[in-house]
Amino acid sequence: MPITANDPNRKTWIKTTPNTDFPIQNIPFGVFLTRDDIITIGTRIGDTAIDLGALHQLGYFDGIPLTDDIFLQDSLNDFISDGKKTWRLVRNRIAEIFDEKNNTLKNNKDHKTEVLFALDEIEMQLPVSVGDYTDFYSSIEHATNVGTMFRGKDNALMPNWLHLPVGYHGRSSSIIPSGIPIHRPQGQKLTNGATEPIFGPSRLVDFELEMAFITTDANALGEPIPIEEAEDYIFGLVLFNDWSARDIQKWEYVPLGPFLGKNFASSISPWIVTLDALEPYRTNGPKPLKEQLPYLQSSGKKSFDIDLEVAIQPANEKETIVCKSNFKYMYWNMSQQLAHHTINGCPVNSGDMMGSGTLSGPTPDSFGSMLELSWRGEKPVQLKSGGSRKFIEDNDTVIMRGHCEKDGVRIGFGEVSTKLLPVFKK
Ligand code: CA
Repeated sequence: MPITANDPNRKTWIKTTPNTDFPIQNIPFGVFLTRDDIITIGTRIGDTAIDLGALHQLGYFDGIPLTDDIFLQDSLNDFISDGKKTWRLVRNRIAEIFDEKNNTLKNNKDHKTEVLFALDEIEMQLPVSVGDYTDFYSSIEHATNVGTMFRGKDNALMPNWLHLPVGYHGRSSSIIPSGIPIHRPQGQKLTNGATEPIFGPSRLVDFELEMAFITTDANALGEPIPIEEAEDYIFGLVLFNDWSARDIQKWEYVPLGPFLGKNFASSISPWIVTLDALEPYRTNGPKPLKEQLPYLQSSGKKSFDIDLEVAIQPANEKETIVCKSNFKYMYWNMSQQLAHHTINGCPVNSGDMMGSGTLSGPTPDSFGSMLELSWRGEKPVQLKSGGSRKFIEDNDTVIMRGHCEKDGVRIGFGEVSTKLLPVFKK
């Protein structure tokens, strides 16, 4: 079925600015609370939020097989379970409804009052109920940088790294939408030269610039997803800040990997941009440096050209952009990640979230964490407002943004913005 929603020539009757992340070609999905305290599934064009629950009740999705309450829910999980054909039909229909040549809703004042909201009238929620969250480690630059710091240059990449997309199972309970502040975590850490750990606030709180993809119900227990089918089960992507406490992480991570240094918070951008919307921005990923086993061999353009940036904003100051990177640097693509995740028969469900791993690029200004940008604190990052940062300080806000641009159409993710508060006190 064609993705008519991506037509680059389509214009909308909703007011938008040329550089918006949300032109009519985007049509992302999210969940929001309205001014009347009603929770609903919605989309967004420019700075207008659109209540899909209300649109459906008014009959605008007639002819598409949808249950009556599919959009009147507090998560997208059921809609995502409906599968790719339905996502495509709904995006195509939304594009038609808001096409500048379509007067049906445009000229219906009452319907518009019910359906359209300014952004300050709504509150974005988590878009999915995340059942399981897996985090990969798929940027070769990031793995090499971190490996060099922790184990030395000669042992930077572990022997398995070029053979499989390394990952671990994280916690879904601490995934939060943009705008929710977090507290500096406390825990055990081993100070330099010491042999016994101490307890206290993490002094090395860091961000990780990642993207995460969200899956639909993909496979039954025992049934792997073949790599060439993997994309059929990917609904879309969000920006993902995988908060990390490097001192806690360094002491605890052997031998079972990340634990409390990672699971205190991961923040996401609230609008899920569909894989369909990203179709025009496909590109090749890095060439494999070693032959991969057949179940991981992917063909065609399985990477996406998404420009990413990270800014740090101290309290009451202007922000400084500290990193510019791109999703295409990821060595193992999403299809490979999903094929690997399920090769042993592990089931993947609607609303599961898969983090890419820190998306560092090849140059020092494209490194996706403070650990790398400040090289373990040896090279502090200068801020525009004066001062510098080795890691994230109390009351700093970390903001991540991402967008694609081609042939005059820009598709963006908005932002994920999170403030780090001091240690929690009762
Ligand atoms: Ca991570």
